[in-house]
Amino acid sequence: MKGKSRVLVTGAGGFIGHHLVKRLKHDGHWVRGVDLKKPEYEASPADEFQVADLRELPNCVAATQAVDHVYNLAADMGGIGYITANHADISRNNILINAHMLEASRLNGVERFLFSSSACIYPQYKQLDPNVTPLKESDAIPADPEPGYGWEKLFAEELCRYYKRDHKLETRIVRFHNVYGPLGTYEGGKEKAPAAISRKVALAPDGGPIEVWGDGEQTRSFMFVDDCVEGLLRLMASDYSEPLNLGTDELVTINQLIDMVSAVAGKKLRKQHDLSKPQGVRGRNSDNTLLNRVLGWEPAIPLQQGLQVTYVWIEEELRKANRTPTSVAVPVTR
Ligand code: NAD
Repeated sequence: MKGKSRVLVTGAGGFIGHHLVKRLKHDGHWVRGVDLKKPEYEASPADEFQVADLRELPNCVAATQAVDHVYNLAADMGGIGYITANHADISRNNILINAHMLEASRLNGVERFLFSSSACIYPQYKQLDPNVTPLKESDAIPADPEPGYGWEKLFAEELCRYYKRDHKLETRIVRFHNVYGPLGTYEGGKEKAPAAISRKVALAPDGGPIEVWGDGEQTRSFMFVDDCVEGLLRLMASDYSEPLNLGTDELVTINQLIDMVSAVAGKKLRKQHDLSKPQGVRGRNSDNTLLNRVLGWEPAIPLQQGLQVTYVWIEEELRKANRTPTSVAVPVTR
């Protein structure tokens, strides 16, 4: 972004949105945040914060008034357990948010609109092997995305294209691959694997058991939230309007992720695999060839480094709530 802008961040009460607001304020922009809720763990530095339901068009129109750029991060989403169990609600809620946010941005003459899509739009038939070939942007079609969440994200990408073509709205589309870091949800059902694992490790006594969803050999790549925010700013500032991956290509199994977090915590834990739990696709990684070409940059913060910061934050939150490892080994549920 050249100069100082007036920026709207939807989902500003959520994980990535809150980090983005902080960075935009740090860079000197005027920022409006909108969300169903305020950030959970610290106050938002946004100049204005509207608590509003963006499934409603009038709320989207109010949110997009007098802003240059929109980062549309609001979504009903969560980890694999949540998105597997709530296809209808997630699809309806997010279709309403995205359709109304695009229309409101058009009505208010917004200059640029960024939509946060997901690696869940990639076809399941390309993710059957843990040694997955990294997914490149053109792999999206023929479509076979994650039911519910993946389908609605893929459709919203199309909707962005239609608004650009028919209404000349400048759109940007980012496909995030698993973002993690401090200030994110770490319990309650909406948390993702790195946060859930950090919580389980923090609450487990040394030598105790840790529950793992699936056989733990499923693979993913994980991006630290500071890299995510940097990528968002770079993409918004670019001229590129087609979907772009934003993730790392450092592939790990969930078992390895547990070992890494356990090492940070200085604990040795016994993995108990629960094959009845959802594990999502077998393997997923990001091909960053296009990202490098378009932005001349890619996420670089090593997983080890990001996990250290994330674990320390979650452990501290649990400690503040007087939740410490039990001396007797008890099974840790989700
Ligand atoms: P998050 O759940 O922390 O934040 C989303 C925010 O949207 C929440 O604060 C929620 O209250 C808000 N929201 C939901 N429904 C709303 C509504 N009707 N009106 C207003 N606000 C509403 O999630 P996040 O990790 O910060 O994700 C941000 C975006 O990135 C989402 O669009 C998500 O789908 C996408 N994404 C995230 C990841 C990841 O790993 N975190 C991966 C792929 C895509």
